[in-house]
Amino acid sequence: METRNLRKAGLKITHPRKRIFEVLEQKRNKHMTADDLYRYLLESGEDIGLATVYRVLHQFESAGLVVKHNFEGGQAFYELDSGEHHDHMVCVETGKVIEFVSEEIEELQEKIAAEHGFDIEDHSLVIYVRPKRK
Ligand SMILES: [Zn+2]
Repeated sequence: METRNLRKAGLKITHPRKRIFEVLEQKRNKHMTADDLYRYLLESGEDIGLATVYRVLHQFESAGLVVKHNFEGGQAFYELDSGEHHDHMVCVETGKVIEFVSEEIEELQEKIAAEHGFDIEDHSLVIYVRPKRK
């Protein structure tokens, strides 16, 4: 576990910070709400309150360790800031968050911005989806 990252971000290592960081580091927990995190910790036998989870996530966000996504129609999702750009799909039925990168979309956005006389500074793309009907 990269406790170094916590120290580097100027955060003292406390048990809740360490555990929350560890959970977010696991691939399948990549995008979690504060509630998800709280329940996950509870199920793994941790006594970390929801208020603490929120506080730690806020500290992580301020320290640039975590990115907060305010997707429509629900709670905010948190993920560790990998520094690598990606976009998201959110399933409106299950709330599942899927990450993707499309070079074509990236290029198309550059092209559209350029046609309007702009360079892209940043962008975030969220596609709301539902499972395909068979
Ligand atoms: Zn993501």
